Amino acid sequence: MSNCYVMALDQGTTSSRCILFDADKKIVWTEQEEFPQHFPKAGWVEHDPMDILHSSLRVMHACAVRLREFDPQAQVRAIGITNQRETVVVWDRATGKPLAPAIVWQCRRTADAMEALKADPYGEVIRQKTGLIPDAYFSASKLAWLLENVPGLRAEAEAGRVCFGTIDSWLVYNLTKEKTHATDMTNASRTMLFNIHTLRWDEELLEYFKIPKVMLPEVKKSCDFYGTCTIADMMLNGVVIGGVAGDQQSALFGQGCLDAGQAKNTYGTGCFLLMNTGSKAVDSQHRLLTTIAASVGDKVQYALEGSVFMGGACVQWLRDSLGILKTAAESEEIAASVTDTLGAYLVPAFTGLGAPYWDPYARGALVGMTRGFRKEHLVRATLESIAYQVQDVVKAMEQDLKQAFAAEGDASQNAPGLSALKVDGGASANRFLMQFQADILGRSVVRPACIETTALGAALLAGLFVGFWDMEAVTSQDATTVTFEPRMEEAERTEKLAGWKAAVSSVIARPV
Ligand code: ADP
Repeated sequence: MSNCYVMALDQGTTSSRCILFDADKKIVWTEQEEFPQHFPKAGWVEHDPMDILHSSLRVMHACAVRLREFDPQAQVRAIGITNQRETVVVWDRATGKPLAPAIVWQCRRTADAMEALKADPYGEVIRQKTGLIPDAYFSASKLAWLLENVPGLRAEAEAGRVCFGTIDSWLVYNLTKEKTHATDMTNASRTMLFNIHTLRWDEELLEYFKIPKVMLPEVKKSCDFYGTCTIADMMLNGVVIGGVAGDQQSALFGQGCLDAGQAKNTYGTGCFLLMNTGSKAVDSQHRLLTTIAASVGDKVQYALEGSVFMGGACVQWLRDSLGILKTAAESEEIAASVTDTLGAYLVPAFTGLGAPYWDPYARGALVGMTRGFRKEHLVRATLESIAYQVQDVVKAMEQDLKQAFAAEGDASQNAPGLSALKVDGGASANRFLMQFQADILGRSVVRPACIETTALGAALLAGLFVGFWDMEAVTSQDATTVTFEPRMEEAERTEKLAGWKAAVSSVIARPV
């Protein structure tokens, strides 16, 4: 065991990364390579599928080379893949050549068509089937666009000569001896073509988007046999690819959130929250997304997903637009140098407000300032605003979960509430923010030592598949995990939350 490792390939939007984990889930080596972004028109975002493949191969190979140097006896037991979600690739089934650029999740080229769908009653049917709110973000309209606009593609696809896949499928196809054309359920659940209740590609949606079924990948579980690796490297050739999951679901798994009510938040530029809802596909009353969580074994688990547009980006705004900070990290000490914000609140609705308010026209505001208000108070109000937004989404998730239990007559069997919020991402390094988050949620905030939870999730799925780890290993916490316990009195929390609600009300048209 001591010479055995698991490799995770984390194929992200701007870079491909490869991370090697040892049996203790510790990172032993990381390689990363950025690749070009293409913006052919305003609002359009593309990647070259070959850049994605080649950068992935190079980081995997570089990791294997380093591992051999570091431990000549080393053996890679399994490979897991996690990836940017929703991005679409089409390729020739016979030659493996891409037939168009990859259309990236951020690309808005199909936004007009999807806006029209939002107003159409069929939008609700799509939401019921897929758990997703119709948007250009998801794969369906991007694939439909390619079939309409790439000359000859539709005829070739109908003849069975074209493969469609999200990035996981593209990589699995190219990395396996078997040329496996498959995707995992978490990735499938972001295409807007997959019925999350029947766990099959939805015939009616395929017809609606005019997608030939023959081009779709087989849908597998996240912890499953995807094939054997066929990279020309003696350490990687023949290794089983046993785990695949979309990045956010992989992070939820990597955080050990395997039971209903357990949730994680990633504090990056924006914040990404996922809550495991167990075997229930919870229909959100707050326009959160219902999605499939990575799970092991036969039973499928679901999750609610929500995001906060302005997370760490608020700190960047203080640093880059206002010049109040030299570094993002400095915000911690400055915020802690004052005892409160003097009753002021920042509502960072710079690009509107997401869940649970959903007001694209709301704009930012700093409310409640008094004469003593200084820059330290602004820094503090900014960090606090991140925590308030996260608590709004967590509360919405908890309410949705509770209603789902009540609707099924499970009220007696108490709906699982959040006991602790697991955290990761760049801004989770900020102790002031983490403590305030725990205070305002009234729950513990748990930050693992390894904040590379996305890669860890994929590694764990693959390691579980080959029996390298067991379920205990997935949930076991490292001794260096930091827990922030809530210390704020209930009365103070209630008062602060009331102030936040009032501040939000002042920037949106609709009262909250
Ligand atoms: P992404 O993956 O979205 O690029 P990261 O997880 O790398 O984001 O986190 C970067 C974000 O976190 C930036 O917006 C930055 O302002 C913020 N950030 C990084 N370190 C800190 C810190 N110590 N305190 C507060 N914010 C931070």
